[in-house]
Amino acid sequence: MSTVASTSVTIARRGLMLVISSPSGAGKSTIARTLLERDKHIGLSVSVTTRPRRPSEIEGVHYHFISQREFERLRESDSLLEWAQVHGNFYGTPREPVDAAMAEGRDMLFDIDWQGAQQLQEKMPADVVSIFILPPTMRELQSRLHRRAEDTEEVIQTRLKNSRAEIEHWREYDYVIVNDDLNTAFNAVQSIVQAERLRRDRRHGLFDFVTTLVTEDPFTE
Ligand code: 5GP
Repeated sequence: MSTVASTSVTIARRGLMLVISSPSGAGKSTIARTLLERDKHIGLSVSVTTRPRRPSEIEGVHYHFISQREFERLRESDSLLEWAQVHGNFYGTPREPVDAAMAEGRDMLFDIDWQGAQQLQEKMPADVVSIFILPPTMRELQSRLHRRAEDTEEVIQTRLKNSRAEIEHWREYDYVIVNDDLNTAFNAVQSIVQAERLRRDRRHGLFDFVTTLVTEDPFTE
């Protein structure tokens, strides 16, 4: 009986910039959190925001909560890779952690809106993989916003009012997932990540790997 020696092959590749957008309450944050917990090869881009912190949120984990003045300073010093005003607050992606991740070939997840997705797609078209998450119905979106119970009724109403305009941008994304069942939606995101990591044009280490492979003599150890 012949045995096959097991090998562990690592092929260098560029990092993925995984952008996930959705209207508030479509389940994007839960999907993003699950992905970060289960996939240790992906890090979160922690945004800055002028929005007040929710009770469950931790400074530096969910966001860096900053003042309007600090936000303007970051924007003017070109320290934000992208930024947008969403539901009356400012949000932005700090440039430095993304540059570092990309230079090291690490994957990053961006939980940002369509305006941010557009800016990243323009700046880094080869690295961005974008996913839009849709709710199964508008009624379900509304009840998820209420169930979360972290925002005032006024904030919930603003978010619901804005959700239709956000959904209009679905065509700008590479993938669209309807989050009817969280597990199914999560599995779909995981499959996308897995497939995108295998794309030939992202794996610059393939050339050397294949060159070595075809010159190898199978009869020598
Ligand atoms: P929330 O206030 O619910 O945390 O976020 C509101 C919206 O802002 C969400 O759609 C979220 O994806 C988006 N958002 C969060 N951070 C950023 C960011 O850095 N840039 C942009 N463009 N949108 C963001």
